[in-house]
Amino acid sequence: SKASGRNAVRFFDPAMQARVVQRATLQRELRHGLRDGELRLYGQPIVDARGQPCGQEALLRWQHPTRGMVPPAEFIPVAEQTGLILPLGQWVLQRACALLAHWAKDAQRARWTLAVNLSARQLRQPDFVAGVQQALRTAGADPHRLKLELTESLLLHDVEDTIAKMEALAELGIQFALDDFGTGYSSLSYLKRLPLTQLKIDRSFVRDLLTDPNDAAIARTILQLAQSLEMEVVAEGVETPEQFEVLRAMGCRLFQGYHFGRPAPLDGEPAPPPVPSTS
Ligand code: C2E
Ligand code: CA
Ligand code: CA
Ligand code: CA
Repeated sequence: SKASGRNAVRFFDPAMQARVVQRATLQRELRHGLRDGELRLYGQPIVDARGQPCGQEALLRWQHPTRGMVPPAEFIPVAEQTGLILPLGQWVLQRACALLAHWAKDAQRARWTLAVNLSARQLRQPDFVAGVQQALRTAGADPHRLKLELTESLLLHDVEDTIAKMEALAELGIQFALDDFGTGYSSLSYLKRLPLTQLKIDRSFVRDLLTDPNDAAIARTILQLAQSLEMEVVAEGVETPEQFEVLRAMGCRLFQGYHFGRPAPLDGEPAPPPVPSTS
């Protein structure tokens, strides 16, 4: 009837429907992209106080056939919502371990660590520890060179289970970093209970370090906290020599940011599949 038709119209929100369709499309394309080899692993150098590289952070990229390079901020949330982050995350771990095994043959890079970002959903998988072990074993990679990056929000769910998994992995020699430190809400008391080896100062505190005394105070406090907990600190988002100098003067020993290198395809990454020949 006319009345119910009008009611239906009242609940029809074109903007919302467009978002739902967009997300469904992205989800389907991402599933196919993973299958068709469109995902790439990039790496960004992490350097020591002399500016010498001592490792990399692995960062996902999606080389979409028509959209171009899709940044992770656009597809990781979708992958997390749909569960696709599980095969995607396992793919990243496998690629990372293969790369570590490749570096092990190189005199300079044999000592580098490779940091991999984790999503909450991955850590909640009952067989997560087995998945990491399998990736290491298949590639023949040294667990001591693998670093897993977690965010504070990830620690909010089921702390006991998270700690148990982290401890099992730490037992194998795997290191853990707490990412984007200072931006989350987790209690500082967790810090002592978790087998963390590293804190990463979020780049929002590094950006205005030279002009905002609050940011400088936060950076200094994180460095002092880490020192008393015997953890390393990586300063993220270092873009200028001045930021590097100030952080170094504060006692920071590890750095990451555009000043040292932008994310680039990791050496040892397979080339994109060739375009099919038409001859
Ligand atoms: P993140 O873990 O905090 O990674 C650092 C981000 O900062 C990267 O963005 C990097 O390109 C950017 N960055 C590094 N140095 C600078 C700098 O000097 N200035 C500025 N403005 N930015 C800098 P990217 O690659 O776009 O990644 C964004 C986020 O996506 C990551 O933030 C991480 O949370 C997530 N992500 C990336 N790869 C993965 C993955 O394999 N798995 C999961 N779960 N998340 C990932
Ligand atoms: Ca990270
Ligand atoms: Ca970060
Ligand atoms: Ca600020």
